[in-house]
Amino acid sequence: MAEKTAQKGKKSESSGKKTAEKKKEVKIKIRDIGIEVKNPPKKVCNDEKCPYHGHLKIRGKIFQGVVLSAKMDKTVVVGWEYLRKIKKLKRYMRCRTKVAAHNPPCINAKEGDIVRIAECKPLSKTKSFVVIEVVKEA
Ligand SMILES: [Zn+2]
Repeated sequence: MAEKTAQKGKKSESSGKKTAEKKKEVKIKIRDIGIEVKNPPKKVCNDEKCPYHGHLKIRGKIFQGVVLSAKMDKTVVVGWEYLRKIKKLKRYMRCRTKVAAHNPPCINAKEGDIVRIAECKPLSKTKSFVVIEVVKEA
């Protein structure tokens, strides 16, 4: 009887190891957002407004900019510069844009980071963009 119980114990141990290995092999599944992303998030979050783990759909324009402020909760201010041509003077004018974007906990962009943002449905009074990836960390 003692031998049998010992064998049983061994068996259960080996099976336990196998399941553990299998679990490690399985990668974290991410929702396909319809855009090619080079640095998808490595963490998992349970934010409803996350394009990867929630139900937020992306549509419209995509911009790349610098995070100017990350003081708000789950929100960053992203800005970028562009040139606008003035026909009459045949010169270019420097313009700046500032946009508030949702910052999901799994991406967690910080001040000074270069990020890509995508347009989505209005998330609040002033937010209708979401950060989809950090291109370069500050
Ligand atoms: Zn997420």
